Amino acid sequence: MEDKMMIIDPHVHMTSRTTDDYEAMAAAGVVAIIEPSFWLGQPRTQVGSFQDYYSSLVGWEPFRASQFGIQHYCTIGLNSKEANNEALAEQVIELLPLYVHKQNVVAIGEIGYDDQTPAEDKYFRMQLEMAKELDMVVQVHTPHRDKKAGTLKSMEVCLEHGLDPSKVVIDHNNEETVKDVLDRGFIAAFTIYPKTKMGNERMVAVVEKYGSNNIIVDSSADWGVSDPLAVPKTANLMLKRGIAKEDVVKTCYQNALDIFGSNGKMKEEHWLKPKGVNQAQLFNDNSVLRGQEPRIDSDQIT
Ligand SMILES: [Zn+2]
Repeated sequence: MEDKMMIIDPHVHMTSRTTDDYEAMAAAGVVAIIEPSFWLGQPRTQVGSFQDYYSSLVGWEPFRASQFGIQHYCTIGLNSKEANNEALAEQVIELLPLYVHKQNVVAIGEIGYDDQTPAEDKYFRMQLEMAKELDMVVQVHTPHRDKKAGTLKSMEVCLEHGLDPSKVVIDHNNEETVKDVLDRGFIAAFTIYPKTKMGNERMVAVVEKYGSNNIIVDSSADWGVSDPLAVPKTANLMLKRGIAKEDVVKTCYQNALDIFGSNGKMKEEHWLKPKGVNQAQLFNDNSVLRGQEPRIDSDQIT
């Protein structure tokens, strides 16, 4: 029996997911995840809502992930959709420096365009400048409408601001955008959506055609119809379709580690030498358990 492949899902909104998802992901080989800050469906009306959300991404959620044996990292930024509320956006931008230096923050993101409005453009550029100044990786959300033009524009703007394309992950690619992204030296991430948009079979075809360099697979699972097991499922399908294991490891693990690990906060040793799960632990007096026996791994028994 071969060792289970280690998987990183570099784009998954765990705040919206359940403990069952964490358990299933860990069982499927997911060792680490990156949770980009994004919008929550319900538009926020107060800067404090953003502050508590960012605090959760650097506090409660990494704790919750740890209770199921998964390492949690995040990206911090003002998402494109809520950039359109300019009065609020101004205050959110002021908050970002409080969070970008936190221990598990591996990039500025997810930022970019939604409807490609002037306000989105303004705050995208502002955050690119911040990333450049801090020498941070950028995770770009490309629009689902007018995808090709929005993707090209996102890259043009990154280059205009002097960002190194090898430190910018362009997400939500498809067959129409991948060549332009790779040709310009950016990292191309693909979100695997169940049933619609980019599915696992199409991802296999992309890797067959373009290889595994600078290509990353993610689930982008959130509060909508989505699949937190999309990355391990795609990895399995790639192997089944005869894609070399080395290429599967690159697209479903190593490339994400190389780029998001570049500021030194995300390290393989975090999961190769895990601390072990101890569900008897509390975060701010809270446990993830509801009367169950806590799982305590042997190295956690004192
Ligand atoms: Zn997202």
